[in-house]
Amino acid sequence: MNRVALVTGASRGIGRAIAEELAEAGCAVCINYLEHRAQAEELAEAIRSRGGSAIAVRADVADRAAVEAMVRTAEAALGPVTLLVNNAGIAGQIQFQDITDEQWNRYLAVNLGGARNAIQAVLPHMLHVKDGCIVNISSIWGLRGASCEVAYACTKAALIGLTRSLALELAPSHIRVNCVAPGVINTDMVQVLGQETLRELAEETPLGRLGTPEDIAHAVAFFASDRADFLTGQVLSADGGFIV
Ligand code: NAP
Repeated sequence: MNRVALVTGASRGIGRAIAEELAEAGCAVCINYLEHRAQAEELAEAIRSRGGSAIAVRADVADRAAVEAMVRTAEAALGPVTLLVNNAGIAGQIQFQDITDEQWNRYLAVNLGGARNAIQAVLPHMLHVKDGCIVNISSIWGLRGASCEVAYACTKAALIGLTRSLALELAPSHIRVNCVAPGVINTDMVQVLGQETLRELAEETPLGRLGTPEDIAHAVAFFASDRADFLTGQVLSADGGFIV
């Protein structure tokens, strides 16, 4: 795959696995992170040591200027971005009546605003060359309701809306926009649920296990590949059958 990829939130978890898989497939990769610099730098170094191209760049995806600067850095080091994976996200459990303005705005700014910022930063080049691929990471909780995760679920449902509408708008420019909706994936994000709940969620999953970051990376790599050349505006629920 001969693309320069930007993967947001790639220091850990799902984003990290996506960056690794895309690098393995031949992409040059910009690894975005917020707090875990050492992990992001170590991943970039590991990719380079295997003969690939990668850099790690810090940016809060909610910060438009920082995202613009990150994209310019990626362009200078690797070339123009033609594959964007909007993966960075935050989650948390809180009852709806207790959500503060600050919390509500932060969920929207990171999970939805982050995707908007990154897309708008890479789009001028994609439009210029009439080529590009965007993959948004939603969630099963964007497809069905999630008690005590209303703000999170709203942002994930909005990413599906963004995917569908933008896919139509950008199709004439041969820019494909798709979405992966992961089920319960065993990363740092879900550890707050506790081992007992995670065991129950694995049992609730028809395929009988939690997902791995690699399960999601495979789905993203498929959308990014030429084999998905006729797919746009689609939501692929990579969830072990959780939503059927
Ligand atoms: P995670 O383990 O908590 O990792 C989150 C990643 O996002 C980290 O690399 C973190 O960077 C980065 N990040 C967070 N806020 C950021 C910001 N403002 N700017 C830039 N980077 C930021 O989460 P995960 O489980 O891998 O989830 C990745 C994505 O998949 C999220 O969008 C999540 O909603 C979605 N998802 C996850 C699950 C699941 O069960 N795990 C299910 C459905 C969907 P630093 O560590 O460097 O700060």
